[in-house]
Amino acid sequence: MKIGIVGGGQLARMLALAGYPLGFEFRILDPAADACAGQVATLVRGEYDDETQLDALADWADVVTFDFENVPASAARALKKTVEVFPPPGALALAQDRLCEKGLFWESDIPVPAFATVDSLEELRDAADKVSLPAVLKTRRLGYDGKGQRVLRAPEDIEPAWRELGGAPLILEGFVPFEREVSALAARGRDGEIAFYPLVENYHREGILRLSRASCPLPELEREGWDYARRLLERLHYVGLLAIEFFVHRGRLIANEMAPRVHNSGHWTIEGAETSQFENHLRAIAGLPLGSAAALGPCAMLNCVGSMPERAAVLAVPGAHYHAYGKASRPGRKVGHITLRAADDGALQTGIERLLPLVGYAPDEFGPIA
Ligand code: AMP
Repeated sequence: MKIGIVGGGQLARMLALAGYPLGFEFRILDPAADACAGQVATLVRGEYDDETQLDALADWADVVTFDFENVPASAARALKKTVEVFPPPGALALAQDRLCEKGLFWESDIPVPAFATVDSLEELRDAADKVSLPAVLKTRRLGYDGKGQRVLRAPEDIEPAWRELGGAPLILEGFVPFEREVSALAARGRDGEIAFYPLVENYHREGILRLSRASCPLPELEREGWDYARRLLERLHYVGLLAIEFFVHRGRLIANEMAPRVHNSGHWTIEGAETSQFENHLRAIAGLPLGSAAALGPCAMLNCVGSMPERAAVLAVPGAHYHAYGKASRPGRKVGHITLRAADDGALQTGIERLLPLVGYAPDEFGPIA
């Protein structure tokens, strides 16, 4: 089976690495000559809306998928005319706009923070009254890793935030004083079968994911997360891996955003789950039976942001697995991750405390496993 991927970053790279044992071939479209997936699969250079390259990809592939959600929805729809495209372009279009995404959650009875659309300074003032401060002003489109966001704590913050972000359509969301951040990941096959991964607890700094733990002992929240994931997967006639990020507030889930693709908080599944998120995404879009999404034991994932830690030091930690994405070092850039597997929560905590200093944090930066 031939799989086309639009976008050639680390997600495409890890999809290809998971797909070769299944006998799949890959061709990847990306405008950058040094896109890191090009080190492991055939890279075709072209803009995401380059019709000639999209047509060629559609002609070659049996199915096309994406490694990021900001592929122009028009490109996804154009591909769909001649080749199977998963996840469905409609899901991609909804996830590209925070307002549409919130509307989808709302219609699916999934709790969201108070929100209001903002297109002028006057609307921002009205929205701040309606949502009430503190609140987070976000660009509706093209935000990631906390980019395009400002926290408004007091009325004096309104004008500076508007000056900074005001050129684009915006959304104001109530600030959620969350206890935790978690994500629910699930894959849905072409026949409607769903595999749910264990709920993951996530820790961010400067808007960037730093640590995920797939051993959070929160069975009720996990059921809630799976229920919400099922609603979205079925409503969207989704095929592939979907991730939903939630805040936990007063012990309940409040949806923040969704990602219609494999997700950073699922990288631990490469060594930590019976079937990785990458393999299950591929199985889903290829129309194959899904594999078990069960964890093999307590697991964590640490992102390597900016540069890679020393390989030998990481591998000296029992249960640690090193993943470099083949990307040049740059501040704030995700260049790799470490998966950690352990026999029990105590050993997992010990391993995390050894690994954190290697990726630039104090051993107790994110506290003990709660
Ligand atoms: P996002 O790009 O929406 O995933 O936001 C990045 C990070 O900013 C989140 O993981 C949270 O840590 C924080 N954040 C975003 N929106 C809110 C909110 N409404 N309330 C509190 N924190 C938020």
